[in-house]
Amino acid sequence: MNPPEAQLRKILELERRKGYADTAVVGGLDRYLKNLIQRDNLGPRSPIMESIMALPTHGYASLSRDQRQSWLLRTIQLLDGAVQRPVTAPTVQKARASTAAKPKRQPVPVAAPDSPSALERPVTALRGVSTALAAKLARLEVTTIQDMLFFFPRRYNDFASIRPIAELIVGEEQTVIGTVWSANETSMGRRLRGTEALIGDETGVMRVVWFNQPYVAQQLRTNERVVLAGKVTLYKGQKTLDNPEYEPLESEELLHTGRLVPVYHTTSGLAGRTVRRLAKQALDNYAGALPELLPQDLLSRNRMLSRPAALRQMHFPDSWDDLKEARRRLAFDELLLIQVGVLQRKREWQERGRAQPLRLPEEMRRGYVESLPFALTGAQQRAMSQTLADVARERPMSRLLQGDVGSGKTVVAAAALLAATASGAQGAMMAPTEILAEQHFHTLCRVFSCSERTVSIATVRPSYLSKPLTIALLTGSMAASVKRKLREQIAAGEVDIVVGTHAVIQEGVDFRRLGLAVVDEQHRFGVMQRAALREKGRNPHVLVMTATPIPRTLTLTVYGDLDVSVIDEMPPGRKPVETRWVPPDGRDDAYEFVRGQVQQGYQAFVICPLIEESETLATRAVTQEFERLSSEVFPEARLGLLHGRLAAPKKESVMRYFRDRLLDILVSTIVVEVGVDIPNATVMMVEGAERFGLAQLHQLRGRVGRSDVQSYCLLLSDSPAPDARERLRIVEQTQDGFALAEADLRLRGPGEFFGTRQSGLPDLKVARLSDVPLIELARTEAARLLEADADLSRPEHAQLREEVSSLWERVTAEAH
Ligand code: ADP
Ligand code: MG
Repeated sequence: MNPPEAQLRKILELERRKGYADTAVVGGLDRYLKNLIQRDNLGPRSPIMESIMALPTHGYASLSRDQRQSWLLRTIQLLDGAVQRPVTAPTVQKARASTAAKPKRQPVPVAAPDSPSALERPVTALRGVSTALAAKLARLEVTTIQDMLFFFPRRYNDFASIRPIAELIVGEEQTVIGTVWSANETSMGRRLRGTEALIGDETGVMRVVWFNQPYVAQQLRTNERVVLAGKVTLYKGQKTLDNPEYEPLESEELLHTGRLVPVYHTTSGLAGRTVRRLAKQALDNYAGALPELLPQDLLSRNRMLSRPAALRQMHFPDSWDDLKEARRRLAFDELLLIQVGVLQRKREWQERGRAQPLRLPEEMRRGYVESLPFALTGAQQRAMSQTLADVARERPMSRLLQGDVGSGKTVVAAAALLAATASGAQGAMMAPTEILAEQHFHTLCRVFSCSERTVSIATVRPSYLSKPLTIALLTGSMAASVKRKLREQIAAGEVDIVVGTHAVIQEGVDFRRLGLAVVDEQHRFGVMQRAALREKGRNPHVLVMTATPIPRTLTLTVYGDLDVSVIDEMPPGRKPVETRWVPPDGRDDAYEFVRGQVQQGYQAFVICPLIEESETLATRAVTQEFERLSSEVFPEARLGLLHGRLAAPKKESVMRYFRDRLLDILVSTIVVEVGVDIPNATVMMVEGAERFGLAQLHQLRGRVGRSDVQSYCLLLSDSPAPDARERLRIVEQTQDGFALAEADLRLRGPGEFFGTRQSGLPDLKVARLSDVPLIELARTEAARLLEADADLSRPEHAQLREEVSSLWERVTAEAH
């Protein structure tokens, strides 16, 4: 296609998109065609002439809409038929029902991607990619063709609206088609050089400036037709384009202008235009090689785009709606791979081995419940029934017990441990830190009303049990001889319940008959870690407890291999923690309040602002705050300091001092050990509260209010933006951890709960973990797929099987 033909084709496409209103060019199509004939001296056999001859005397303007449509489509076909190479429209658009006769625009691959393995080729297989360019792309983690296809834009510029110069609207992103009148390199102040150009069309002339890009002057030739896109500004009262995207009108297809233009992350020395061109090239030549992941019936049932179509729309969307569809499809793929993996894993360990059924005879259960100094809440009873029913089966239990801090999860876990011992099996209870393990040991001793005990071992004779119950505490810092002795007893089956840290139990203990593992406070314990735990034990039942309220979407993904019990009811009589936002000028009053509580014999936490970027900065900040508070604010009190840089034993001993009331105030970063019970602490003071997530604030607040004394949470925030103030108001007003978690997920995304890496989840490029309907859809479809074809052995599931396994291999490798 020669330049006039290419230009006409673009205009015709535009005209079609605008609904055949004769508005594609200023002055009308007839005038344009007339100029074209005069200017370009077309031969009689040219497709353009042939088309023009087909028009009536009064031209295009005199045709009806339908006549215009058929003339225009025929002309496009003529133009396309006149060339060998593929031609694409300036702006790709979705065919409306009335324009179904859309010409085919399948690009012809340069290097025939006969097999999917073409996708594994290095980016240097793309035209124009030198090793130097490949090195830059590698910095963006793009090394293969496939990487390029899945290197998605971070946003899009809406340059879809094309306007004549006279009609440009200041402040909007638009596209202009014009002729270069002049283009010169200019100096723009000290050491700053750029390009200044004048661009004209039938309606006017405008100034266009590229700061810092003197080379653009060489790329624009006088009299050349160009397309420019950018935001229109006013300069000295004149409309101006600053640093617009530009491309010659002759280019095959508009990439940088005249459409929704993708904007990619780049790196130094790599122009956005280059990435865009490479993405286009990869799409045209290789997208078709990408095998479909999903069976056809699933696609049509859910009205989903094919994968190549979704990729195309993701990079070069025809409209915002098309982009949405593309996102939906690609996000669904990501979520489905997770769901299939998670469900397969669940089924695998459920089928791999039988677990020992653990039964708690009814009279023992009643005896246990009646021995407790309080009545169980309805939620506790429910969770206990679900758990006991699960462990009584041969299918190994995998249950998540969720409940806010203080909701009473331990008594539920204890019932399951009791079931284990009643069935002649052993139970393990694991905590992330030694101090929490100690705490669990004490709690279990209390729950089972034990009297005879040493530091590490307790023997209990609850009236409802026929034989005594032995509970051991095993932590890393115990004397080696004690540990060795305990291990022997555990291996010999002389110990019924072992409480300890994850590390100690997972790495050093040989159980005689491990029937149940209780894993506490494990929001850092992902799918992979759970799988590892199963690998070790001979398929014990597993109960995971967490005090972090987890939104349902996350339980479906990160905890997707688990069944869930929720304790959503607090024991009666507990006083809600009074929560207040403290304005900047209220700081002194807040300190005074803390002093008052300390004088009454209570304790307080002071949490320093969240500094995520650097542990060093966080340490320095908390240390300075500690010194300031010790010397200037609370010289009379005993202060302790806690941060992530302290060695684990040091951390634990600071927590112990605080627990044992040797300290009044604990100044800390967010590391404050989750779950540690300090009933005597009544104040939680959070500095820079606006930087924390709602769920985090709720967790911090849960450190206090653990007795019947009124407790307080003071949220200090020096410069809260209105929306930050709003978020803090939500924390002030609601005590419901789940509501806060859902709000958090909406407001700040899932990073709040776990980095995906820690969670044993793959990085998600497109999907959002807050998208409940799509996650549920993926869950349903995954279950359906596996029900029909459990190991995905059917040919139409081959691709899916391969991608699921390679995804999980990657995740496994990262989790180790
Ligand atoms: P968490 O869910 O945070 O682990 P715990 O199991 O440690 O909570 O229980 C917190 C406290 O509440 C414990 O001292 C426990 O004995 C007490 N508790 C548990 N259930 C009830 C109940 N139904 N009524 C009153 N107190 C309860
Ligand atoms: Mg607890």
